[in-house]
Amino acid sequence: MRYAVISDIHSNLAALEAVLEDATIAGFDELICLGDLVGYGPDPNACIALIRSYPHHVIAGNHDWGTIGKADLQIFNRDARIALNWTRAELTQEYRAYLSELKTSQPFDDSIFLSHGSPRNPVWEYLVDTGAALSIFEDYAFALALVGHTHLPLSFTYEKSGNVILGGADYDRPVKLKGKRMILNPGSVGQPRDMNPDASYAILDTLSGQWWYRRVSYPVEETQAHMREADLPLRLIARLEHGR
Ligand code: ZN
Repeated sequence: MRYAVISDIHSNLAALEAVLEDATIAGFDELICLGDLVGYGPDPNACIALIRSYPHHVIAGNHDWGTIGKADLQIFNRDARIALNWTRAELTQEYRAYLSELKTSQPFDDSIFLSHGSPRNPVWEYLVDTGAALSIFEDYAFALALVGHTHLPLSFTYEKSGNVILGGADYDRPVKLKGKRMILNPGSVGQPRDMNPDASYAILDTLSGQWWYRRVSYPVEETQAHMREADLPLRLIARLEHGR
């Protein structure tokens, strides 16, 4: 099975469309979405509709929870809170119900574990260091854990010696998964934070045991124009062109 693995779309329809176009050319059977479908960006309903038009597996992120009232908005910074309040007002009843029903984590395909943050703290943990990754590898039995939330395309590989190796995205060659235990983050579709404004995602092929990081340019100014129309915070608009 081939999956397009996306995360942190954040209501950025132009980025999502570009990613799905690229993934269609690369070829995939089903979509895995690791949460934060909404928040920050200007097109929450259209993004949810587009994701739902594919065979898909979706789990909830912190911004999805913030939108439907499962997370206190005081936890979020000011700009995020303004965007979440805007999203709450914008979201249709149907999509509010859809977000409410999402699980926060999911064992998947026997050896794959899906969560937005991490297996031990599915909605909230920002997994960026090897020490945290090591304790997760030791406490959970997955072969692959797919996570999002940090908006950084990263991989953590568990070595039998007990070390964890942190890796960045290599767009020229796929990560070989066979016999390994890894935590993989596809980066963010709608608000990348690694100084590269292009939308980030990955293709996972469970048959050949490979993971490809992919980057796709999209019309950032289109999303920015929608954000201006929606009167979303200027800082959120500006950061998209810088990828941070
Ligand atoms: Zn996010």
